[in-house]
Amino acid sequence: MRKKIIAGNWKMNMTFDEGQKLTSEIVNMFKDENITDVQLVLNPPFPHLHPVKKLIGDTKNVFLGAQNCSDKESGAYTGEVSAKILASFGVTHVILGHSERREYFKEDNSLLTEKVKQVLANGLTPIFCCGESLEIREAGTHEPNVKFQLTDSLFGLTAEEIAKVVIAYEPIWAIGTGKTASSDEAQQMHQTLRKHIASKYGQEVADSISILYGGSMNAGNAADLLSKPDVDGGLIGGASLKSRDFITIAK
Ligand code: PGA
Repeated sequence: MRKKIIAGNWKMNMTFDEGQKLTSEIVNMFKDENITDVQLVLNPPFPHLHPVKKLIGDTKNVFLGAQNCSDKESGAYTGEVSAKILASFGVTHVILGHSERREYFKEDNSLLTEKVKQVLANGLTPIFCCGESLEIREAGTHEPNVKFQLTDSLFGLTAEEIAKVVIAYEPIWAIGTGKTASSDEAQQMHQTLRKHIASKYGQEVADSISILYGGSMNAGNAADLLSKPDVDGGLIGGASLKSRDFITIAK
């Protein structure tokens, strides 16, 4: 059985007080509403990690994630945060390769390979993002384009390593735009990516990997998207900043 995961990507939002309030509400609702078959991952900005971890405590099925990490192990890299440091603060997941990092911070596939390796070497779970631009979708080349993102960044991993990766398919045209992929479009791409992984690593490994959908998922459209057999969860931006919406998606 693949893990069902609802991950909240806070991006560069939330002051200290706002983050504390949001986390407390989410953790309390998750417990009160007795949601048992889904893992939540909260991915706040770095300074929130320690205080958010304290609020999560030992709540079952609620995990702490970061939004990025360094490709380097340690040392003189001012402003960077390593996977090792994150692990020491109780972080279990790291979002890598988000399209905003690829676009604004020029992260490319080979840099992402190094980051994935750092995350895995420190016992953490990478949430590896991939997805196509509107231009590529309109040209009809989205499947080869996204498959290549996996091949180029991940296919040097061993089967044992890739089995630890969570994939997030996020069409760039759907991120923060209010325009989501239809559930059939999402299913089609998720199935294509799973087959692609199977072609290299075998069906068993491909079937064990959770593939999340991201891009304007919200409390209204989540049930439809998540009903698809290859959609194993969501990476949620805007709607993860509202506790009720985030919990509704998880439910
Ligand atoms: P969104 O963001 O839900 O606000 O579209 C998703 C993401 O960028 O991870």
